Amino acid sequence: MIKMISGDLAKLDTPCLVIPVSENKNLFHDPLISGLIQKAINSIDFKAKSGEEIFFYDMPEVKAKRTLFIGLGKFEKINGETLRAAAGKSIKRCIKRNISTMIFCVPDEGEMPGDSRDMLEGLMEGACLSNYIFDQYKKDKKHKPLKQIALYSHAHKDGKSHVPASSVETVCRGTILAREWVNLPPNDKRPEQFVQSIRRKAENENIRISILDEKALKKHKMGGILAVGSGSRSRPSMIILDYSPKKSVKSKTKIKTVALVGKGVTFDSGGINLKPSDGLADMKMDMSGAAAVAAALITISRLKIGLRVVGLIPIVENMPSGDAARPGDIITTFSGKTVEIGNTDAEGRLILIDAMSYAEKVYKPDAMIDLATLTGACVVALGEKIAGVFSRNRELADHIIDSGEKTHERCWMMPMPEDYKEMLKSDFADIKNITGVRWGGAITAALFLSEFVQTDRWAHIDIAGPAYAKKETDYCAAGGTGFGVRLVMDVIKKI
Ligand SMILES: [Zn+2]
Repeated sequence: MIKMISGDLAKLDTPCLVIPVSENKNLFHDPLISGLIQKAINSIDFKAKSGEEIFFYDMPEVKAKRTLFIGLGKFEKINGETLRAAAGKSIKRCIKRNISTMIFCVPDEGEMPGDSRDMLEGLMEGACLSNYIFDQYKKDKKHKPLKQIALYSHAHKDGKSHVPASSVETVCRGTILAREWVNLPPNDKRPEQFVQSIRRKAENENIRISILDEKALKKHKMGGILAVGSGSRSRPSMIILDYSPKKSVKSKTKIKTVALVGKGVTFDSGGINLKPSDGLADMKMDMSGAAAVAAALITISRLKIGLRVVGLIPIVENMPSGDAARPGDIITTFSGKTVEIGNTDAEGRLILIDAMSYAEKVYKPDAMIDLATLTGACVVALGEKIAGVFSRNRELADHIIDSGEKTHERCWMMPMPEDYKEMLKSDFADIKNITGVRWGGAITAALFLSEFVQTDRWAHIDIAGPAYAKKETDYCAAGGTGFGVRLVMDVIKKI
């Protein structure tokens, strides 16, 4: 979909030429582009402020039918995200006008602030991520994604760049796959359907797939997953995606193993502790962690990453019924520890602990990361765009936070104070899944998880806020954001 091009810009025929413009610095050496920018600035309606844009038609200097100028704002503030947003915005404008191809002018390498690689990568990501429409439930499909996006740069005369477009595209396709799963309505992704959908996608890859069905979950005494799934007619299961790089002939160093665990609640009604009506319709997104992990595994296989990565994805629907788990129930988890269910809406942690204990026992990972839309409290703390990171391993947490900055899937370090564990004490079982206190819910959820994890190299990422967007953004439509895929893909490079 994305290709790098060069040549004589004046002669390139395209329905839309896009030129990003900074408010206070010319980003292009090419006199032709500089001249066009000058015309736009002279038009008095365009100052190149961040968010500004203007269309010109049939500019005599170029063959392009339309020329779209996108404001990037102040030069000093331009970063990868600025370009991600600019690319995303221009793609959306083209889609709206039913244009099927476009040419985007890439600012000259030496003329950009910061790391030029990050900038180009951001630009490519913005283009890929915005070129997606979820319309499978609409009879009238008004708009189509662009067929091709060409990135024009006279610096890349050989058509190559130091950022391979194909690998950026592969990662973005992973994000879009995750979005697609999140956007599916809950009646079309009940646990059995969601598991099969993941299986179908993964079976074309270099991934070993195993599915622990209800019978297997019972055999392994995974009381957490079984309890949460008990109220639904669709049976719970855990799908495991196991990727290993193909053996190079004489590799002597042992490859590391990473476990990724994703919360897969296909619809969270709250169970017997039924949620209020507000926001219930968005509860199809409670499997965003699962979607991100499954999509990451598929991406990892496509990019032939040199680590063993195992994705463990427990999938359930949390429903009230005569068979549902009750507040007050005491369950025995895979670890052998018992949990008193204080509230059936604190279900994510119950399925995660079984998956995480199993991951540690069977795969002995060098690092483990879980992604989960775990608590509303995390959204209260950090808002809808930033995820909370909980880890006792500073190095792993720093990797995640740095990758969050780079990918703009932002993460913020949260504390795990030992003394808060007091609140999870149960009079009857080893631990309770909820505190009786209103405050600090994201923290106590993480502390609950930590009671079931042995390794120090573990991080929990609470994505309850950024997994889902109520309103569209520059490179994402309203709905699932696919948050976590680009983040994880960047993090695993450092493990
Ligand atoms: Zn819940």
